[in-house]
Amino acid sequence: MCCRETVMPITATEASRLSRRTGLSEEQFCSRDESGIRRLLNNQETKACVFLATSSDLPTAPGICTVYDSRPLGCRTYPVILDESDIAILDDLCPYTEDFDEPSEDDAHRLLNLESKL
Ligand code: SF4
Repeated sequence: MCCRETVMPITATEASRLSRRTGLSEEQFCSRDESGIRRLLNNQETKACVFLATSSDLPTAPGICTVYDSRPLGCRTYPVILDESDIAILDDLCPYTEDFDEPSEDDAHRLLNLESKL
């Protein structure tokens, strides 16, 4: 999923932009995984991204991204993700994939470019 129980990776540039935009320090909205990649944190109560304004931990509960204009590229492209062969696919964990077109090769290039910056 994207905003719920997020593991969304973000680049250093995106982290700096979010920090400037929100006044939060990086540690307040992301942490590094075992590979050193920054990933957005979840709010412990809502189990949703710290930037999702929501009052519920239900996966289908409404919520609004409070940094929508500055959201990371991974959030902008989701539910398009890369499979093990670096082909762009729609994430079958997303309940809204029917609303999206089939990903293109351009989508794969965009995500590969993002991966190289993480
Ligand atoms: S930054 Fe916004 S779009 Fe991205 S996971 Fe968080 S709430 Fe969702």
